[in-house]
Amino acid sequence: MKQYLKFDEWNIIEDPFHPEYNRISESVFSLGNGSIGQRANFEEQYSGESHQGNYVAGVYYPDKTRVGWWKNGYPEYFAKVLNSVNWIGIHIQIEGEQLDLAQCEVKQFTRILNMKEGYLKRSFIAKLKNGHEVQVIAKRFLSIVDTEVGAIKYSITPLNFYGKISIVLDLDFDVKNMDANYDEKFWEETAKEVHDVTALLTARTKKLDFHVCAGIRFDVIQNGIKEEVSVNKIEREKYVGYSFFINGLTGEEITIYKYGAILSSENHDKSKLHENCKAVLNKAVAKGFVTMLKEQAQAWTDKWEESDITIEGDVAAQQGIRFTIFQLNQTYSGKDERLNIGPKGFTGEKYGGSTYWDTEAYCLPFYLSTADPKVARNLLIYRYKHLAKAIENAKKLGFTNGAALYPMVTMNGEECHNEWEITFEEIHRNGAIAFAIYDYIRHTGDKSYLVDYGLEVLVGISRFWSQRVNYSEAKKKYVMLGVTGPNEYENNINNNWYTSTIACWTMTYTQEALTYVKETAPEKYGLLVEKIHLNVKQETTKWQEIIDTMYYATDDTLGIFLQQEGYMDKEQILVKDLDPSQRPLNQKWSWDRILRSCFIKQADVLQGIFLFEERYDIETIKRNFDFYELRTVHESSLSPCIHSILAAKIGAYKKAYEMYVRTSRLDLDNYNNDTEDGCHITSMAGTWMAVVHGFGGLRIRNDQVNLSPFLPEEWSSYAFKIRFRGSLIKVKVTKENVEVINETEEIISLCLFGKNHTIKGKEGLVKKF
Ligand code: BGC
Repeated sequence: MKQYLKFDEWNIIEDPFHPEYNRISESVFSLGNGSIGQRANFEEQYSGESHQGNYVAGVYYPDKTRVGWWKNGYPEYFAKVLNSVNWIGIHIQIEGEQLDLAQCEVKQFTRILNMKEGYLKRSFIAKLKNGHEVQVIAKRFLSIVDTEVGAIKYSITPLNFYGKISIVLDLDFDVKNMDANYDEKFWEETAKEVHDVTALLTARTKKLDFHVCAGIRFDVIQNGIKEEVSVNKIEREKYVGYSFFINGLTGEEITIYKYGAILSSENHDKSKLHENCKAVLNKAVAKGFVTMLKEQAQAWTDKWEESDITIEGDVAAQQGIRFTIFQLNQTYSGKDERLNIGPKGFTGEKYGGSTYWDTEAYCLPFYLSTADPKVARNLLIYRYKHLAKAIENAKKLGFTNGAALYPMVTMNGEECHNEWEITFEEIHRNGAIAFAIYDYIRHTGDKSYLVDYGLEVLVGISRFWSQRVNYSEAKKKYVMLGVTGPNEYENNINNNWYTSTIACWTMTYTQEALTYVKETAPEKYGLLVEKIHLNVKQETTKWQEIIDTMYYATDDTLGIFLQQEGYMDKEQILVKDLDPSQRPLNQKWSWDRILRSCFIKQADVLQGIFLFEERYDIETIKRNFDFYELRTVHESSLSPCIHSILAAKIGAYKKAYEMYVRTSRLDLDNYNNDTEDGCHITSMAGTWMAVVHGFGGLRIRNDQVNLSPFLPEEWSSYAFKIRFRGSLIKVKVTKENVEVINETEEIISLCLFGKNHTIKGKEGLVKKF
């Protein structure tokens, strides 16, 4: 754990410079706007530890998988979000010496991520080896209003000298992915243009032929006056730029405005990329940096208005929760149904930027409660559009009759994970995708989704489950063999309780959905049945037989569900008895030892109890929680949030808080020692859930919001908002009471601590503890 960032409610602050943590800071201070994103690299040259990263949503590369011995069913490629054009470069030489913070004395340094207004600011004073001192103030943002544009204001002031300052502004496509399997470069230049103040560069990706066009324009201001600098144009392969000189005067600020536009062939005709890029750039320059930044601040204010969580009495917690909300909103805007949420968002390359079950299991509830329902709907449509591929995927594995197996890792619907042993058998992801349909509908009330899209997906998934089980003569039960549950520290296990539970739930829900669609939209029902050749009677009878006869491993003495058959054969050691020097297990133990041990990477049985909580009484939840929590090492960032929510449910408030703390500042404090690879974006949604679903006790039941909040002892109050079916509800929890405010005009009904209430528009309800 490295706690080097300063506490502040709205800002993330690094002061002084920590070159030893620079890669961590580059992740934490990342910028994104749902369309483009970048790590917080410096504009000027930096020869120290750094991972340069710029990403364009939806642009990826199918890198050939590296495996030892190829087997049928292995994915052909491991997709990679592509490290793309670097447009921020502003390289400074002062009287022949390069400004490089790794090579000079850094006398003052502050890096600030302003989450309230959505920009990154850096200021420093550097003393070069030649004795010259400069002050630099750099402000940069990626616009959430004009989502193809970023802008930089970079000001340099000579402090103790006057003389020639040489400046290079560039656009560099000669970049590499850190995790390229064969150390290849993935971009090839297709065109470039360099005019007086505008340069454009387009490159295409190998294999999939995505085209990305980047453009820059700039202005130079000295002493408040625009300078007409005389530039040298630089052109080489995959690179364009300008170099020029400025006469620096002591104490006089030189300001460079650099505008960047990044357009991709995902959104523009390839032949129009240059023309459109120029238009986007011109529009940005016409608005100007100041106006764009004002618009940015306003747009972020609007986002915060709906999604902020305030915490009083604990600035570290306040900063932590805002950081998660900020990063989630930077990563996914929900405007484009082709896009999704990679586990690292735009902050790094790990996990290839691909879509995992994380989206449905963790992120969806955040967007459901904090954004327009279209945002969550687009996440569902993404999977709907991949249904044909999921069916093809299942077919390749020997399944028939339209059975659908969604990939564990994907960009375009095809499976593209890079580790068969762990990922392939995690077929539970199919369940999360089905559950998300249910979750979306219960939250938004948009049942038309079921009619138009959801049912078809549910049938495909149910067909898969019904073929994936087999009848065991020995047990006289259906069994599900050879799976991996959410706990990736077990592979190829039989009868994973979570997977079997979610499989049967899907088949039940699909039957209910069939009945609903048949009754409410008979015509569409008929068309669908015909389209997917559904033999309703025969198939649903089979599903029901499986549901009725499914085998679940349990331990009746302990009164718990067993993670898998045979789990109790393992040597039962508790996490508290593990030698701390052996942690994290995945870095210290052999894979063989991990697989044989009882230690659990992340919520597994508890994940199921979390999803289907209403089925179990408190005692059952408590027994399972107490048993599994003692054996869980939480080596996935997705784990503590689920434990926190269940701990809150059973009234173990201290434990709930302890688990929350583990997730809330995971990246800010580099808890897992891996933030340099990027931030844990999808688990941030889990942190949000830990506050709203855990401490706030939010559940959607009986078509209404249910709340049963408590206040962690460490806080003096907290407040959050929930969007629910056209209403906006604010919940404020203090030491004395809970206040629920209806922020909309319409009357709402909700359930607080188990009692139903109605609240008139713009009115509130106060309940004392
Ligand atoms: C977790 C998976 C998760 C993946 C991406 C892994 O460490 O075990 O559940 O899908 O990370 O976040």
